[in-house]
Amino acid sequence: MDFKNITIAGSGVLGYQIAFQAAFHGYDVTVYDINDEVLDKAKAKFDLMAKAFAHDLHASQEQLASTFDRLSYDSNLTSAVANADFLIEAIPENPAIKISFYNELAKVAPVKTIFATNSSTLLPSQFAEETGRPKQFLALHFANEIWKHNTAEIMGHPGTDKTVFEQVVNFAKSIGMVALPLHKEQPGYIVNSLLVPLLSAATDLLVNEIADAETIDKTWMVATGAPTGPFGILDIVGITTAYNINKINAEATNDPVKIKTVAYLKEHFIDKNKLGVATGEGFYTYPNPAYQSPDFLK
Ligand code: NAD
Repeated sequence: MDFKNITIAGSGVLGYQIAFQAAFHGYDVTVYDINDEVLDKAKAKFDLMAKAFAHDLHASQEQLASTFDRLSYDSNLTSAVANADFLIEAIPENPAIKISFYNELAKVAPVKTIFATNSSTLLPSQFAEETGRPKQFLALHFANEIWKHNTAEIMGHPGTDKTVFEQVVNFAKSIGMVALPLHKEQPGYIVNSLLVPLLSAATDLLVNEIADAETIDKTWMVATGAPTGPFGILDIVGITTAYNINKINAEATNDPVKIKTVAYLKEHFIDKNKLGVATGEGFYTYPNPAYQSPDFLK
């Protein structure tokens, strides 16, 4: 069965992007969040999305107008899912909040509705039973700025039905994503299983005073042809996220290099509000970071 009606739960950073992307590609989308005030804020962000789609994807005014026509908003969970073929959950990365959401959802969603979580760090098996329909539950993981970084990692838990998995792969393709199926559960999916060790190796080199950030980036860019090095990526991801990941790691392992990294990031970046692209400065200054200059790789 093809999906027609989609519900997106959570209209934060990722939720409104997924909603707009699905509506742009012809689905009827209901955006659900905890109250109407939050949903009003989301509506304002959809105007920014329309500008980004026009600029980056050359979307026409007609396409954008029909995208808005297909979006509706509802802060009542029962009516928000009443017709849903597919629900994508993009609520905070907090297991207690997700569990209580799935318990409520299980009571009110129609039998047909398939559920997917967009969680970045939690595994679908952690919530499968809470959904009341483990066979119809899996992870569908998008990246920030999904219209440009159009990865969709699809990851089931051991009890996910194979047909459901395929339906979600097809849905992802139908909204312009590159569908990336995983055969097993993996914390961090593919993208963060690759990215986190790379970024961590880069900060290790820096705090161990092996080389400076620009030289490390230059090495990676020249050697692999990548357009951005690990410190450029850290600025895009946001230094707060790197700081939090290292802090959890340092507390769990007592690794002296991680402890040094936490102190380094705090002193040079967090305390100075140099948090990366979002604040205009991190390892580089924006909008024209040095690594994008034609002379950088010389
Ligand atoms: P966010 O904090 O920006 O947004 C969360 C939204 O959920 C808010 O609008 C909030 O009002 C709403 N919410 C809170 N409790 C709710 C409930 N019980 N029911 C419905 N809505 C509720 O979070 P985000 O960055 O969009 O992340 C959402 C999910 O997407 C997380 O699981 C995160 O791991 C994942 N994710 C985030 C990114 C990213 O770059 N931000 C990338 C990929 C995946």
